[in-house]
Amino acid sequence: MRQEVCEPATRRLAGGVLDGILCVGAALRAAVTRFGTPRMAVDEADKFLIAAVQRGDQQAWREVIERYQGRLMSFARRMLAERSEAEDVVQETFLGLMRSLPTYDPSRSLETYLFAIVRNKLHDYLRRRQKGQRQSLEQLELDDAPEAWVDTDTPSRYVAQQEMVAAQRAALVECLRTWVEQCTQQRRFQDLIVIEMLVVLGLRNKEVAPDLGLTEPAVAGIKFRVLEQWRKLAGSTAEAHEWTEVDLAADSTVGRIWREEGISCLKRSTLGRYLLGVLDEDWNAYIDFHVQQADCDRCHANLEDLRSEDERDEAAREQLRERCFASSVGFLSRPPE
Ligand SMILES: [Zn+2]
Repeated sequence: MRQEVCEPATRRLAGGVLDGILCVGAALRAAVTRFGTPRMAVDEADKFLIAAVQRGDQQAWREVIERYQGRLMSFARRMLAERSEAEDVVQETFLGLMRSLPTYDPSRSLETYLFAIVRNKLHDYLRRRQKGQRQSLEQLELDDAPEAWVDTDTPSRYVAQQEMVAAQRAALVECLRTWVEQCTQQRRFQDLIVIEMLVVLGLRNKEVAPDLGLTEPAVAGIKFRVLEQWRKLAGSTAEAHEWTEVDLAADSTVGRIWREEGISCLKRSTLGRYLLGVLDEDWNAYIDFHVQQADCDRCHANLEDLRSEDERDEAAREQLRERCFASSVGFLSRPPE
């Protein structure tokens, strides 16, 4: 069976993206058990607001929109020149969130979830525009947000065990997030930058080394050390061999998930302090790298939104909020199906 293909030789033959996920997942099965429900970087205020929205609280819904519309707009504007087009996409994004609330998992970061939806909506929007099939907003197929988490183009559609894949992905995300947290706490920014270059940007050791003023063996050493740390975090020495260099670079699975989940994305409060210039040199250097060199569109959008917060046209902001609210609030009072 395809999902059992974890023996390295067979795996090399199969070589599919899914096999990558599943093999990484195999190393993490123990972690799922150990961590239980994966602990995510969840904003407590978001959690509170979403719970209120799920109870039908309109004011809370308005606050969710207010909280996120700016950064989503900045994100959409990076791809769409027309403000009105970007507003359409943001409106669709909030509708998508609202429609998926009955199945929304509160242990997930709302920001990550919204960015996944807006990314999908943008993708759809650009594809439709390319085809020249302009449709009115009412005619648009409002896809369910959960789709945002599982790319339908990956081989995962061949697998009946979607839930298992999701659990493995969650465990992988948990492991990576914990590692990033440790890196920043222990100020191992260089490790973080090296891994981001290898995993997210898909660079090779020899490309990373000169950029950071390191030797190639030094980069290889960091990579080796980090793989060890990931094995420990996965909590299973028996299956430790599942983490290979393939997971780091050759297969883009980890990189894709890293980007989609915003594994090393900065907290908004940290980005705010960065703009105020009150962070130390190491932090500044890391954020510069993450936003500019790694070109993180999500942190970019947050920074732009923070920068323009003061000067933004308050009327336009309110107008968009009301528009998003009006188009989605109807779902609040809908009785459960
Ligand atoms: Zn980021």
